[in-house]
Amino acid sequence: MSDGPSYGFDTLQIHAGARPDPATGARQTPIYQTTAYVFRDAEHAAALFNLQEVGYIYSRLTNPTVAVLQERIATLEGGVGAVCCSSGHAAQIMALFPLMQPGCNVVASTRLYGGTVTQFSQTIKRFGWSAKFVDFDDLDAVRDAIDDNTRAVFGESIANPGGYITDIRAIADITDAAGVPLIIDNTSATPYLCNPISLGATLVVHSTTKYLTGNGTVTGGAIVDSGQFDWSASDKFPSLSQPEPAYHGLKFAETFGPLAFTFHSIAIGLRDLGMTMNPQAAHYTLMGIETLSLRMERHVENAMTVATWLENDPRVDYVTYAGLASSPYSARIPAVCPKGAGALFTFAVKGGYEACVKLVDSLEIFSHVANLGDTRSLIIHSASTTHRQLTPEQQEAAGAAPNVVRVSIGIENAEDLIADLDQALTRATA
Ligand SMILES: *Cc1c(COP(=O)(O)O)cnc(C)c1O
Repeated sequence: MSDGPSYGFDTLQIHAGARPDPATGARQTPIYQTTAYVFRDAEHAAALFNLQEVGYIYSRLTNPTVAVLQERIATLEGGVGAVCCSSGHAAQIMALFPLMQPGCNVVASTRLYGGTVTQFSQTIKRFGWSAKFVDFDDLDAVRDAIDDNTRAVFGESIANPGGYITDIRAIADITDAAGVPLIIDNTSATPYLCNPISLGATLVVHSTTKYLTGNGTVTGGAIVDSGQFDWSASDKFPSLSQPEPAYHGLKFAETFGPLAFTFHSIAIGLRDLGMTMNPQAAHYTLMGIETLSLRMERHVENAMTVATWLENDPRVDYVTYAGLASSPYSARIPAVCPKGAGALFTFAVKGGYEACVKLVDSLEIFSHVANLGDTRSLIIHSASTTHRQLTPEQQEAAGAAPNVVRVSIGIENAEDLIADLDQALTRATA
C-alpha cells in the first residue's frame, strides 16, 4: 500500500507497512523465520555494514516481519520510524540508551507502571543513570526537576494504575523550553486513543505485550521516533550528534536527519544490547493490531459501564476511571484521548487490604494476573504484587494504596463483568 496520510486509522491498522510478499504473493505478512540474509556480492555486504545502503544483514538488527510491524506502529503513532524490541522494559532502556551517559538523569512521573518505577529507581543506577520522580500534575515541580544533567522526561499518557490522564501538551512545553526530549509511554492508551507525538512528545514507547497484541500471547516493545528533535542543537546528545567511532566517525544526526534516533537504535542499540523482537512475536502482534480500534472501542465502552456501576455501589469507596464525570482528569479527555479514557482504573474497596485480597480470590471471569490490555478482564491487588517493592509512600503516590485494586476491563459482555464483581464484592465485604 502506498502511504497516504489520507487513509483512516482502521485502514492503516490493517495495511500500513505491509504489501503482498514479493516472492510468493502471500497476502498475509509471512513470518521470515531466518537469522541471516544472503548478500548479493561482497560490495553489497560492505555497503550494508557501512550503513551506506539499507538492507537485511542479521535478525538481531532487522527482520522483514518485524520491519512491517515497525512501520505499522510508526504510521499509527504519526512517527518517522519505529524500532521493535523484546519487551516494553527493553523499549524503555533502548529509548534512554542513546540519550544518557553516566551522571545523567531522567525526570519521571510518580504515576507509572510499577515495573518502570523499579527499573528507573533501582536498575538504571548500575549504568550510572538516575531518575527524579515528580508529580506530573505539578508543572512547576517538573520544571524545577530538570537540571543540566537531565537528558529526558518520561511519563505515561494514561497512567498506571489509576488511569490518570497526563497533560502531555503542558509537559511538552516545558521539555521544549528546556531542550530535552519528552518520552511518553503510550501502552495503556494505544495510538487509537492518544497520539502523544501530535501533543509534542519526542519519542513514544510501548509495551506491545498489552493492547497492541491484545490477547496476552507474546511480550514485545516498540520505540517510535517523532523525528522532530534537533539532537545537534546542544552538546547534550553526543551519541547522536558527534562522530561514532564504530562507524568510521559517522554522525547519526547529520547523516540520517529526522531518522537519526531510529538508525542509532538499530545500528548501535539492537546491535550491542541485543534486545531484539523475534519474528514470531511480531507476527502475533501484527495479528492483534489489525483489530485494535474495534477492541479499544469495546474496552472503553465496557470500562465506562463497569466504572459507573462500581461508583454507585455502596461497597466501593471510590473509582479512579477518568471517563467518569467525578474524575479530576475527565476535563483532559478531549485534548489528550478524545476517543476515551482507556480501560484501566482502580477502585477502593471498603474493608481495605483484607477485602481486596478476598475480592480477587472470589472473582470468576476476572483473572488475577500481573498483566493488562488483554481481551479478558483482569484484576490485580497492586499493593501485594506489582507495587510490592515500593515504599508505602511510593504506593500511595502511585495510586496503589493497600485498599485499592486495579482492573483492566476486557471485551466480554459488560453485564457478565458486573455480575461477577457483584458476587465477589458480596463475599469480600461479608
Ligand atoms: C507492561 C508495561 C510495561 C512493561 O512492558 P513489558 O512488555 O512487560 O516489559 C511498561 N509500561 C507499561 C505502561 C506497561 O503496562
